[in-house]
Amino acid sequence: MSDNKNTLLRDNNYQQSRRSFLKSAGVASLAGIGTMVSPLLSSAEAATKTDESNQLGKSLDKMPTRKFGKTGVDVSILGLGTMFDVVANQILLKQALKWGVNYWDTADCYSGGNSEKGMGKFFAKYPETRKEVFLVTKSCARSNDGMTRLLNQSFERMQTNYIDLYFAHGIRDISEVTDDTRRWVEDAKKAGKIKFFGFSTHSNMEKCMMAASKMDWIDGIMMTYNYRIMHTTQMKEAVAACTEAGIGLTAMKAQALTQANAASETELKMVENFMQLGYTDAQAKMKLVWEMPQIACIASQMPNMTILSANTAAALNTTKISQVEQNLTQQYAMESSCNYCRGCTDICEAALNNQVPVGDVMRCLMYSRQYKDIELAKSVFYQIPEQTRKSMVEMDYSRAEQQCPHKMAIANLIRQAVEELA
Ligand code: SF4
Repeated sequence: MSDNKNTLLRDNNYQQSRRSFLKSAGVASLAGIGTMVSPLLSSAEAATKTDESNQLGKSLDKMPTRKFGKTGVDVSILGLGTMFDVVANQILLKQALKWGVNYWDTADCYSGGNSEKGMGKFFAKYPETRKEVFLVTKSCARSNDGMTRLLNQSFERMQTNYIDLYFAHGIRDISEVTDDTRRWVEDAKKAGKIKFFGFSTHSNMEKCMMAASKMDWIDGIMMTYNYRIMHTTQMKEAVAACTEAGIGLTAMKAQALTQANAASETELKMVENFMQLGYTDAQAKMKLVWEMPQIACIASQMPNMTILSANTAAALNTTKISQVEQNLTQQYAMESSCNYCRGCTDICEAALNNQVPVGDVMRCLMYSRQYKDIELAKSVFYQIPEQTRKSMVEMDYSRAEQQCPHKMAIANLIRQAVEELA
């Protein structure tokens, strides 16, 4: 047998054992968490073990809360992300509140409006719960008239007359929130329509955060933040500046799901170690974010009871992720760097004269490959103008690839996205 064939066979075997191991560990994908058995029990067991050994003796039955920046509001460290049809998933809201998950995150565009409508259905049935919830929604509009229209639409859908935290959704540059926006925010606050204002961002997060730290009317930011990103100098400085300015921070994409998978011995070792601590891979990655006291909340996509239960268990579990696992995680992050898009779109998109929204396409791939949510991936993909989608395939990506600090195979990934989602 040739060396090439041997290598191929070995790689195939490796990939198969990796897949089955990671599957049994409930690793790295929202779907994967569903393979876990009784996460609350395993978490409690792990915590009991830890309490016995280090005498922490902390209560395990109360969802921890943190102050959301200068707002002074206590929010649950686990937030309910709802990029899905909440109308059909009312039981989840009830259970989330019961477990102390009081930070609820939605947006005008999630699930064609059915995320907000589902919350409205719940508040109409249980009006007394509205005041228990820190309700966050987002506006895709940028003009003041557009924001007013969408805010009114959110009120109607969610059966409420105020929003706790209102975000400009998915900004890529701080210039998207202007002095005009500030005037709109001041009026909306005076009228009692919104309590706090900020933005969400998964592109150029660090730059947006640094700029926001100098704008005293920004109360909160929701940004991509995870073990791959949180140790970079830029992100550490951005978090420090926002914390100093009293801006509440919500992490999203906390598990750093990748655009592509690759064989890695380090990943297997990392997951094995996490399991010995009583965590799945997904739970442990959230714990790494919660280790950072500057992060008030992780907004996590939790479309079913299994994931809600697993994430709640992780939030309650007091077992620390040790330095050994943290080092392994950093090693894995380094080895798999080319499979994860970090949202530094200023670099690659500028190299393409801003003709392709690379970051958005990479996010679509993550939704389809890791969340296993083709519908969500397609809905984001089809927001890209038709002409751009068509021209993407033929584009020359060599300059963008040269400039990508993580050496992502942009051309291949874009073409794969077009094939998988078009
Ligand atoms: S493709 Fe590379 S340069 Fe572009 S956003 Fe992703 S990591 Fe950054």
